[in-house]
Amino acid sequence: MSLQEYSKKRAFSKTPEPRGAGGEGGGVPLFVVQEHHSSHHHFDFRLEHEGVLASWAVPKGVPESPGEKRLAVRTEDHPLAYADFEGSIPEGEYGAGEVKIWDRGTFVLNTWEADRIEVILQGNRLNGRYLLVRFKRAGENDWLLFRAKE
Ligand code: MN
Repeated sequence: MSLQEYSKKRAFSKTPEPRGAGGEGGGVPLFVVQEHHSSHHHFDFRLEHEGVLASWAVPKGVPESPGEKRLAVRTEDHPLAYADFEGSIPEGEYGAGEVKIWDRGTFVLNTWEADRIEVILQGNRLNGRYLLVRFKRAGENDWLLFRAKE
């Protein structure tokens, strides 16, 4: 079960984050971008895939226009319920700090391969064709995230 790592990192008696239960999914897939004021401020980009939210930490945030490639570091899968999560993770817990939803919406999946993911995001802030490609030269979990030229 791919949410094992998510659950292992968290004490659900202390954090307000949702428990690591798998979801139904299967409808129109959703994405969410959460702004996370942890020790290193970043944005978390999450795409629904196979009943969980595949997740990347994006230090500089998701670009709104084409041209700029942003580093996106793959992190553990999150439960679908996380797409609704906003709140404060207490001091001392994993990811301590404020989490706020920066954008959310649905997407059309064009490609989901081991090294390349292409989606069309339909959110409030983010709209258009986006690519995630493995950036192997940098590191095992490193990807590049950018908006495609139309
Ligand atoms: Mn985060």
